[in-house]
Amino acid sequence: MKTHEQFAEDLALYALQELSGSDREQMEDHLQTCAACRRELQAMRGELALLGLSASGPQPPARSKERLLRAIAVEPRGVSAPEPAPAPRRSLWAVLVPVLAALGMFFITISLWRSNGNLKDQIAELGNRNQDQIAQLDRMNQELRLLTAPDAVHVSLTPQKAPKQPSGTAIFSPSQKRMMFMASNLAPVPEGKAYELWIIPSAGAPVPAGVFKPDDHGNAIMMDHKMPEGVVAKAFAITVEKEEGSDKPTSPILLMGEGE
Ligand SMILES: [Zn+2]
Repeated sequence: MKTHEQFAEDLALYALQELSGSDREQMEDHLQTCAACRRELQAMRGELALLGLSASGPQPPARSKERLLRAIAVEPRGVSAPEPAPAPRRSLWAVLVPVLAALGMFFITISLWRSNGNLKDQIAELGNRNQDQIAQLDRMNQELRLLTAPDAVHVSLTPQKAPKQPSGTAIFSPSQKRMMFMASNLAPVPEGKAYELWIIPSAGAPVPAGVFKPDDHGNAIMMDHKMPEGVVAKAFAITVEKEEGSDKPTSPILLMGEGE
C-alpha cells in the first residue's frame, strides 16, 4: 500500500494524465479518501490551465511538458510545506533602520552642538564689545564733567622762548566817521621811526591814518581818531615809517586786517 507522500509525488503525473493502469486506479482510490491530495490536484489543474497545459486541451509541446514535470518533481511538496519566511531580509532591515536612525540623530546632534558653540562664542564677543563701549562712554563722561565743571581752570601753554606775536584791533564807525586802534606785543621801533596805520580803501591807494610808538610793554592805542573824509575802509594795515609819517607805505606790512 502506497503512503500519502508517494501519492502526493505522483499527483502531477496524474494531473497530466501520465498515470495508467493500477497506479491510476490506486491514485483515484486515494483521492477519494485524502482531502489534502484533492486540494493539491485541484490547485495543480488550475496552474496547468493557466499554462495552457490542460490535459483536455490541445497537446502541449513535449519539451514544455518535460520541463514542467521536472520542475514539479524538484519542488518540495507536502501538505504542511512551511512558508519560506523572508526572515533574513526582515532582520537586516531590523538592524539597519535603528542604526541609520541613530546615525542621523548623531549627525543632527553634532551639528546642533557645533552651532550652539558658535552662538556662545558670538554672545561672548558681543558681551566683550559691549563692556568696551561702556568703559569708553564712562571715560568720555568723566572728561565731559571736567570740561564743564564750574571751577574748571583752563590754562593755555605756549612755547616759552617764541617771541609774542604782535596784534592790533581797529574799531571804526562809517556813520560817525570815527575810529580807534589798539595794538599789543609790538617790537620797539628804531630811533627816528614810528608805526604808521593805513586805511586801505576798496579802490585807490592806502590812506595814512596816524603814527604811533608802543610803550615799554609793546602796547599802543589811538583813541577817538578821526576817519579821513570820503574814505571807505576796506582794511587796515601797519608799517614802520619815519617818525613824522609817510604819504605812502615804504616798508613791508607788519599787520593787516579786513573789516567784516
Ligand atoms: Zn493524499
